Amino acid sequence: MQTEHGTVSVNTENIFPIIRKWLYSDQDIFLRELVSNATDAIAKLKRLAILGEAEIPEDESYRIDVVYDSAAGTLAIQDNGIGMTADEIRTYINQIAFSGAMDFVEKYKEKGAETTGIIGHFGLGFYSAFMVADNVRIDTLSFRSGAEAASWESEDGMAYDMGPSERQARGTTITLTLSEDGKKFITTAKIEEILEKYCNFMPFPIYLKDVVAEAAKATAAAERAEKAKTEQADETKDVTPDDDTLVDELLDEAPEKPVNDTTPLWLKDPKDCTDEDYKVFFRKTFKDYRDPLFWIHLNIDYPFNLKGILYFPKTDNVYESLEGRIKIYYNQVFVADNIKEIIPEFLFLLKGALDCPDLPLNVSRSFLQNDEYVSKLSSHIIRKVADKLNSLFKNEREQFEKYWQDIGVFARYGMMRDDKFYDKVKDIALYKTVDGTYKTQAELGEAIHYTPDANKQIAYVERAKARGLTVVVMDHELDNHFMSFLEYKNHSVKFKRVDADLGGEQGDESHKEAIEALFRTATGKEKLAIKLMSLGADALPAMILESEEARRMQEMRKQFERIGSSDDTMDLDSLFPMEQTLVINQDQPLVARLQAMAEVPAQKDRAAELASHLYDLARLGHGSLAADELAAFLKRSATLLQDLANQ
Ligand code: ADP
Repeated sequence: MQTEHGTVSVNTENIFPIIRKWLYSDQDIFLRELVSNATDAIAKLKRLAILGEAEIPEDESYRIDVVYDSAAGTLAIQDNGIGMTADEIRTYINQIAFSGAMDFVEKYKEKGAETTGIIGHFGLGFYSAFMVADNVRIDTLSFRSGAEAASWESEDGMAYDMGPSERQARGTTITLTLSEDGKKFITTAKIEEILEKYCNFMPFPIYLKDVVAEAAKATAAAERAEKAKTEQADETKDVTPDDDTLVDELLDEAPEKPVNDTTPLWLKDPKDCTDEDYKVFFRKTFKDYRDPLFWIHLNIDYPFNLKGILYFPKTDNVYESLEGRIKIYYNQVFVADNIKEIIPEFLFLLKGALDCPDLPLNVSRSFLQNDEYVSKLSSHIIRKVADKLNSLFKNEREQFEKYWQDIGVFARYGMMRDDKFYDKVKDIALYKTVDGTYKTQAELGEAIHYTPDANKQIAYVERAKARGLTVVVMDHELDNHFMSFLEYKNHSVKFKRVDADLGGEQGDESHKEAIEALFRTATGKEKLAIKLMSLGADALPAMILESEEARRMQEMRKQFERIGSSDDTMDLDSLFPMEQTLVINQDQPLVARLQAMAEVPAQKDRAAELASHLYDLARLGHGSLAADELAAFLKRSATLLQDLANQ
């Protein structure tokens, strides 16, 4: 063909500086785009062969080669796909499909991060090569019989030269002469990193060749061969192995290995996959060496296409450290991690790979938000996750209980975030009891007694257990919200902390007045609420109970104070009254003794001192002694011990 010179149509002068700027934030993309184009070129050829429109040898092995030559400063991407004729270059490369792209660019040029998806979306993938290159050259030979090899070359993506090419084999080579910035950015390690991230599961084998490293290896091998030859020649004069065999032996060529896995596990039929397969895939894909707990293999083609595997990883249940990762692929090409329009945020605690071939490879956020397919996809995934939990609960309850330690936070968080998930999971959500067993809400009944810390509240836990109640542990920072949420969703459910009034322990109140007077005077708290109860001789003589509602109000108050939204005119004490009750266990002889002492003038002071001490003891068990009160309590304890010792 004739050589020709031209300028790529449409206002490239305007668009290129902007594309450059965007890609700065994600330069990696260029290699993904070029390797994707190579993959597409092969896929197209295969399709034509199936349709009988292209003739391909039976044993054709398709491949993509990424050849990096740091000495020459070049990076080439080669494929043996469909190739292009000169006319096709004119159509597909020179006339960029800019419909709408210019408007988009004008609108979004200031919003760099949001727009990284635009590049491939408007058929600009190829041009992303100019982000790292001073010169880009295409050498291509179409599969069509009689086609002539063609070349295209450009330094800026605007002015180009076309002409014939030396290329002999079908397919395309894109050669990038790296710019100064490109050279800084591109290294063998960087190429490996990008290929691993974006191309790890692409459907055709990708080979990476580092020209300089291989040349160095060959030279070293040749030197060693030379040395071995001289040594051997010295020893045995008769055999002289020929040079090439020796070099080959010494080079110890490992069989060529693609950098990618062309048949990721999600493509296989779930019934052909073993547990070990899933674990190996997990380790490889997420570099996480703790085995996952369990997984879901998604494989549907109606009403939409979705394949993938979702893993429930082991966690230590600290919310911040639950950094799952769901990788989205488009026909085996990595698109992005954690696209929140597809994967509801609470599922980010999981890890997984999802291949969504009905999505465009480069998608804009606004597209995803309005797309019906995306919302169906999202509901489907939520349903599958909920179904899996339900089936584990029904069929492997014991195992499910073990998992709960790891997935409990995730499930509770999910219930609060997503109504559909809540509906499907509420009946199988588990609550851990202080004895380490697990119960559902139905098994616990409507009044659920809980403790945020079984050790600190041991006296109360014992009391509840003595009364035959089951106490569950709600110790995650999420739990306060979760309990309010459940009460809101289901009005008959009521959570009660073990130090709340559990009801039904009423004692004989005939001495109430005298006892009340004793404790109120002793503590100097005139409004101290006191209740006499019959708690049994084994229980402590006194304890503090706190109204569930008032305590929650107090907690809110603390939050108020923390966020500093309370102004001085607000009387927080009256807004959030503290409702603590001192419960006196009338089954304890100490109580009767104190009462008797209070009636003897000589022992009155002593009775007051002991009553005050008893009150503090109750508050100590409740965890509500302030620092100065605790100090006073300790001091008084020491004095009392001294008195005892003196007797
Ligand atoms: P997109 O891939 O989004 O269409 P690109 O700018 O990446 O946009 O590529 C434009 C077109 O150039 C492709 O659609 C394809 O027709 C052609 N093309 C690019 N790379 C190759 C290749 N390696 N082999 C054959 N055709 C290619």
